[in-house]
Amino acid sequence: MKILVINSGSSSIKYKLFDMKHRKELAFGVAERISEENSILNHNKISKNSEPITYRNNDVIPDHREGLNRIVKLLVHEKYGVIKNKAEIAAIGHRVVHGGEYYKYPTIINKSVINAIKETIPLAPLHNPPNLIGIEVAETIFPESVQVAVFDTAFHQTMPPKAFIYALPYELYKNEKVRRYGFHGTSHSYVLKQAGIYLKKPIDKLNLITIHLGNGASMAAIKKGRCIDTTMGMTPLDGLVMGTRSGDVDPALPFYLSDHLNMSLTEIDNLLNKKSGLKGICGTNDMREIIERVNAGDYLAKLALEIYTYRIKKYIGAFIAVLGSVDAIVFTAGIGENSPDTRRLSCQGLKQLGIEMDPKKNAEDSDGIDEINTPSSNVKILVIPTNEELHIAIETKKVINKSN
Ligand code: AMP
Repeated sequence: MKILVINSGSSSIKYKLFDMKHRKELAFGVAERISEENSILNHNKISKNSEPITYRNNDVIPDHREGLNRIVKLLVHEKYGVIKNKAEIAAIGHRVVHGGEYYKYPTIINKSVINAIKETIPLAPLHNPPNLIGIEVAETIFPESVQVAVFDTAFHQTMPPKAFIYALPYELYKNEKVRRYGFHGTSHSYVLKQAGIYLKKPIDKLNLITIHLGNGASMAAIKKGRCIDTTMGMTPLDGLVMGTRSGDVDPALPFYLSDHLNMSLTEIDNLLNKKSGLKGICGTNDMREIIERVNAGDYLAKLALEIYTYRIKKYIGAFIAVLGSVDAIVFTAGIGENSPDTRRLSCQGLKQLGIEMDPKKNAEDSDGIDEINTPSSNVKILVIPTNEELHIAIETKKVINKSN
């Protein structure tokens, strides 16, 4: 069975095609800067020796429909293609950011699912509309394929009310669904399953703290395989320091910015989401550059890294408190997988909590799962590469199998 995974953003479509027989990636790519002058279509066919054969084109991509049409042409292309006919694609798995309280699990897309995603737009105005465009375009281009929605929020739907309800008038939750939802669910869920395999422990017996550190960043407290708390909130702005997002700030900050600096709501939104985080402190959100500047003695880069890792450490402490006991801490995503300095500073001084990192193992680089704790550490520290697209493909296949 071949499954195409689509992540449709406001100006991009990321995709991966899998052969689910061996969970093998056949092709991947991205159509970027859709409806802009300098569009990019980057397509990669995985060759027999696992090396990608790359095709790149800069013709303007006027809209998502044309973008997906061009992707399909490449998937069946004589040189860059991996299938003969688009009918070989049995299903499309769509990443959908917000499923509100409607969806605890992935689901086959029908009219009522589309309506629910539409109803959730006020909670994810930047993400759900382009996700919907991806679904609508895919439905017309692949009328024979099953379309499945896999929600970023679903994994966190197991949180108890004490963790997800804000201390606001209760009506705001009851009537408006204002609450903590949490995001990056596909990544937290994927590394949970990988940790279970690595630790040879059933998932329903696993207590983990998963730390997803990409350009967006979030942590999850997982008890007996179920999420019981997470750092992101009603939107992905909450919690950890991120590439360009502030994470936790005093909720009174917007009043101050408005009253004293005359900033509009749009300007404050832009400030907190796009001009803050690592970039706000030191001017860049690329952790590689930050580490280089730290090593060269740059004060603001050092400060940014300290604030970033201090926040992670604080949440590790908080999540240990709510979990009681922890089998492993898992680092994942771009920074979590590739930045030993970030991991070291986040876990520094936590010996009393049973967390001891082996500096040598932490500095070693590998493509697979790494265990970077000392032998005497009570809590394992794992580095597990995430694969959100594979997770979406696996979940898509499960949903189809269940429905048959
Ligand atoms: P993601 O959103 O998962 O693609 O992660 C993006 C982040 O990963 C960016 O901040 C990159 O700077 C960071 N990143 C990627 N490779 C490295 C690396 N080798 N060392 C440190 N950070 C990295």
